[in-house]
Amino acid sequence: MSPHVLVLGGTTEARRLAARLAALPGVRVTTSLAGRVSRPGALAGEVRIGGFGGADGLTAWLREHRVDALVDATHPFAESITANAARAAAATGVPTVVLRRPGWRPAPGDRWHTVPSPAAAAQALPGLGRRVLLTTGRLGLAAFAHLTGLHFVVRSVEPPEPPVPPDTEVILARGPFTVAGETGLLRDHRIDVLVTKDSGGEATSAKLTAARELGLPVVVVQRPPLPDGVTAVPDVRAALERLGLGP
Ligand code: NAP
Repeated sequence: MSPHVLVLGGTTEARRLAARLAALPGVRVTTSLAGRVSRPGALAGEVRIGGFGGADGLTAWLREHRVDALVDATHPFAESITANAARAAAATGVPTVVLRRPGWRPAPGDRWHTVPSPAAAAQALPGLGRRVLLTTGRLGLAAFAHLTGLHFVVRSVEPPEPPVPPDTEVILARGPFTVAGETGLLRDHRIDVLVTKDSGGEATSAKLTAARELGLPVVVVQRPPLPDGVTAVPDVRAALERLGLGP
């Protein structure tokens, strides 16, 4: 019988992996999306949308849909679903691969301030500048909401949800972004500090190059740790190999 692979998605890597799996003869692939983005774009294979109802719900789903392998290819900051996937994998014994693109590395000339959380980023900001480009995602703004006296330019894919800082301007945009475009954005809005999560990947890294070239400080929020005992592979190729389906 065809192996059934469930890919927990919401990332470029998950989309690429689904395309590779769907192209393999005899492999059935289902991508699961949380349903946060209104127009998620086409995906190869089958798609299911919405939460499972915690680790127990995911465990039941794996059993009910006879999943043979699970790939957690969610975003590095999607902490809950990753914890749930680890618990469901342990409960069912379904072989599981965690795919995480590598984090960004500072380059010469970078003025990075690495912090452990959005709250720590908010604490660091007043000492670094007054006009802030915030690219931490629309759901992570509460940590900055108490900051008065700073002007925030918030860039996100979907409109942010309150609470947001009192002086906030929103730009809706979806990557990939270019260095020229990011440089223009930083200049046009007279930004003097950038805040980002360490998402990694190329689609949104141009802002780091632009900030470096303009000599701007960047507050980088570190990734949450993976669950105990979980190790990740860095790319689609390694994920396929780990599944025994590549190269
Ligand atoms: P999260 O905090 O880890 O997850 C919250 C809840 O959303 C989970 O407990 C689960 O609900 C549901 N969920 C999350 N990902 C799911 C998936 N792929 N399929 C089905 N249900 C899912 O996640 P998040 O940070 O809100 O991110 C949500 C999605 O957006 C993820 O798929 C992630 O890959 C993508 N994304 C996140 C970020 C980010 O910065 N966090 C950036 C880009 C894309 P139940 O407990 O009910 O199962």
